[in-house]
Amino acid sequence: MRATVMYGAGDVCIENVTDPAVIEPTDAVVRVTRACICGSDLWPYKTLEHSETGRVMGHEAIGIVEAVGADVRTLKSGDLVVMPFAFSDGTCMFCHEGLHTACIHGGFFGTGEVAGAQAEAVRVPQADGTLVVLPVGEDDALLPSLLTLSDVMGTGHHAAVAAEVGSGKTVAVVGDGAVGLCGVLAAKRLGAEQIILLGRHADRIALAREFGATDVVSERGDEAVERVRELTDGYGVHSVLECVGLEQSELTAIEIARPGGAVGRVGVPQDEAMPASQPAFYNNISVSGGPAPVRAYIEALLPDILEGRIEPGRVFDRVIGLDEVPDGYRAMNEREAIKVMVKP
Ligand SMILES: [Zn+2]
Repeated sequence: MRATVMYGAGDVCIENVTDPAVIEPTDAVVRVTRACICGSDLWPYKTLEHSETGRVMGHEAIGIVEAVGADVRTLKSGDLVVMPFAFSDGTCMFCHEGLHTACIHGGFFGTGEVAGAQAEAVRVPQADGTLVVLPVGEDDALLPSLLTLSDVMGTGHHAAVAAEVGSGKTVAVVGDGAVGLCGVLAAKRLGAEQIILLGRHADRIALAREFGATDVVSERGDEAVERVRELTDGYGVHSVLECVGLEQSELTAIEIARPGGAVGRVGVPQDEAMPASQPAFYNNISVSGGPAPVRAYIEALLPDILEGRIEPGRVFDRVIGLDEVPDGYRAMNEREAIKVMVKP
């Protein structure tokens, strides 16, 4: 089959690789009908060290089950399924606690350990725990929104949950990528009264406003902090969704939280140290978050998509075939596209 292989920073190509097959009795093989490129794929795109073997990329997909192992109980060939970016058994202590990204039998797609989904097919370990059957047809108009349950909508929701967003609260979202935009949607869905987006790109800001952002701050650093304070009677916000992962954005996130506020981090941190330890301490700010257990959120978010209350699929502004994936990486890296959907 054909798949997206990354050999190092900036070095992405489409190649023929071995077809995925059932290896463990708990595996399924899924023919990918929709995949996408993630903002987090841009970190290896910028920094991955060169290797001879390369890495099959991609961790978001919808597809059709083609084969299942002998122990798979809840899926059958022909089912249309959505695949969270992490696989999980659904039965261990951490899965029962709703933290599927810490599953003791779990792992992550597209990391080198398990091949990714920017490909014609993907092997899914722990298929019963991981995959969710979708009650729609293969070409349903809701597929773009359903595809965001793989990652960005669940991740935006996780940031909102970690930041303790609730009814009547003031919220800031740091970052206007697909996750930040879904964070706006999630904050609105959870009842936030004021939602301030920190972002600089006109197309993304326009979509954020449609998703529920009430204010936009395009300054950076101290000026951004100043602007958020002006918008919140001088206090800062109750909840901050940090959707970038850079030192500057993490620092800003803590500085715009009001005393007793909470920061939910879902941007993959690019540094060892977390900035702003002292302001976080003196203002009693909770800093939480991490890899989103998107599997845990699918049951809650799915009805809102099926019944049309949220439309996170609007973050996709480009649809390409597998052969165009290298250009899709370039377009997202150059901020030419918000999020790219792939139809293998
Ligand atoms: Zn588990």
